[in-house]
Amino acid sequence: MRPDGNLAPDCSRLNALYAERSAESILADASNGVFGAKAALVSSFGAESAVLLHMLSRVSVETPVLFVDTEMLFAETLEYQLELAERFGLRNVIRVRPEAQETAWEDPIGDLNTYDTDACCNLRKVRPLARALRGYDVSITGRKRHQSSTREDLSLFESENGRIKINPLAAWRREDVLNWMDAHALPRHPLTKRGFPSIGCTPCTTKVRPGEDPRSGRWRGQDKTECGIHFIGGRLVTGRADPKPLQQG
Ligand code: SF4
Repeated sequence: MRPDGNLAPDCSRLNALYAERSAESILADASNGVFGAKAALVSSFGAESAVLLHMLSRVSVETPVLFVDTEMLFAETLEYQLELAERFGLRNVIRVRPEAQETAWEDPIGDLNTYDTDACCNLRKVRPLARALRGYDVSITGRKRHQSSTREDLSLFESENGRIKINPLAAWRREDVLNWMDAHALPRHPLTKRGFPSIGCTPCTTKVRPGEDPRSGRWRGQDKTECGIHFIGGRLVTGRADPKPLQQG
């Protein structure tokens, strides 16, 4: 049962209650049903994902991990996903993919990303994840305030579509992530050594130059900075000044 005893998530209270708690203890509470009976961690198995997955493995290897495979990912990401799941002993990694029928209809030759990235993210990320999260009370993400200007006000707990969304690493800085990875000898995503501090789909990820925002290599040249699977403060976030509403499920 949730700490407030109500069905509606009381995130302001949770944010105050858990402000000083470690990310790992928040993950433990989430895995033990403190915030809702069913919790799942959503991971891209990207550049910084190993930290949260490692922490989860120390508190619960059974908690579902939803891996959104857009079918446009780098081969290195698919290999890294297998490597981390095996190394951490994660027993419940669920690969979330777009519906074949929808892909055949909306993106038959796989070029939707070249002329409508919002529609492509909606097809390949937003709707598949919305479907996968049905039945869960709690989702957990690895988002952090330092990653981009759209995330600088990120809270530890958010309410999204009647579900609690937890960002245990919200306050973590890049050096905190690197220190944790070094301290626990966690494997790095192979593309980080090649200039990719943030890794998404192959067609929409470019290298980042020193001094640039770590996410500036995502959708470079567009005003889009988020794929649309996240809401902040109850607002759909794509980074665009005037985002089109995206169908959620
Ligand atoms: S990041 Fe690019 S390729 Fe991936 S789903 Fe979004 S638009 Fe499509």
